[in-house]
Amino acid sequence: MAATLLYGHPAADQIINRLEDQVQALDEKPGLAAVLVGDDPASQIYLRNKKEACRKIGCHFENIILPDTATPEELLTAIDRLNNNPAIHGILCQFPLPPVLSHLKNQVISRIDPHKDVDGLHPVNVGRLSTNPKKALNHGLVPATAKGILELLRFYQLDPAGKHAVIVGRSNLVGKPTAQLLLAANATVTQAHSRTSDLQKLVRLADLLVVATGQPRLIPGDWIKPGAVVIDVGINRTASGLVGDTDFASAQDRAGYITPVPGGVGPMTIAMLMANLITAYQNSLRS
Ligand code: NAD
Repeated sequence: MAATLLYGHPAADQIINRLEDQVQALDEKPGLAAVLVGDDPASQIYLRNKKEACRKIGCHFENIILPDTATPEELLTAIDRLNNNPAIHGILCQFPLPPVLSHLKNQVISRIDPHKDVDGLHPVNVGRLSTNPKKALNHGLVPATAKGILELLRFYQLDPAGKHAVIVGRSNLVGKPTAQLLLAANATVTQAHSRTSDLQKLVRLADLLVVATGQPRLIPGDWIKPGAVVIDVGINRTASGLVGDTDFASAQDRAGYITPVPGGVGPMTIAMLMANLITAYQNSLRS
C-alpha cells in the first residue's frame, strides 16, 4: 500500500495564520533582515519565499545585498549595523557565501547578536538547544528545519517517543539540531553521515528516517523498513525537476508515511523561521 503523504502546507498554514494573528495584536512590526552576498540563484529563491512569508504575517523584511567583491569588513559591518538597529529583530545570512568569503561562515554566524539569530546557528543558541532542548524549542532560537520536522510529526500525530530514529546527515543546520530535538522527544537516535560504513544496514533499522544529505535519491525504497516514517529534507535540482534525498517512487511503496519533495519539509522551514522571528521579537521586549 502506498505511504500516506505528509504534506507540509496544512501544518505550515496553521502556524502562519496563528503568527499573523499574533503580529496584528502588536504595536510594532517585527523586522527580519537577510544578508545576501553575491547572486546565488537558489539563495535568491529562498529569500523571495522568506520575504513573502514576512509579508503574509505582517512583518517588515529587509534584504541587504552585497556584491561578491565585498570585503570581510564590509560583510561584518553590515551585520553590526543590523545588530544595532532596533527595528530589526531577526537577522540571517544566506549561505553559501561566495568562495572567496566562505572561510568567514563561522565568524559571520558568531557576529550576529544571539538574540536576533533566527537561524539558531550562533554558538549560544546551539548550546541552549544542547543543554535544555525543551526550553530552547519553546522560548529560544532553534534551526527552523529541525523545529519544522518536529512540528510536522506533531501535526500528523506521529510521536517519536520510543522509536528508533535514524538521521542521515550531520550538518549544523539540519542533521545535528534534528538529532537533539528527537532525543528530547524520547526517540532513540542514530546519526549517520558521509563516512558511515554501512548506511543501508542502519537505514533498515529506522522506524523514523530523516534524510538531509543533498544527495539526490540517495536512499532507495528497498532500504526502508516497511511502514517507517520518512522525512525527506533534501531539495535537489535535477534535469527531471526538484527531487529529494530518497527515491520517492520506490520509497512510497515501502514507507508508512513520507514527506513529498517539494511540499513536505520546505513549507515548515519557512513557517518556523517566522515563528523564530516572533520569538526573537517577544524576547526583545523582555530584555
Ligand atoms: P550539508 O551539505 O551541510 O550536509 C549534508 C550532510 O549529509 C553532511 O553531514 C554529510 O555527512 C551527509 N552526507 C553527504 N553525502 C552523504 C552520503 N552519501 N551518505 C550519508 N551521508 C551523506 O547539507 P544541509 O544543509 O544539511 O542540507 C541537506 C539537504 O537538505 C540539502 O539538499 C538542502 O538543500 C536541503 N535542505 C532543505 C531544507 C528544507 O526546508 N526542505 C532546509 C535546509 C536544507
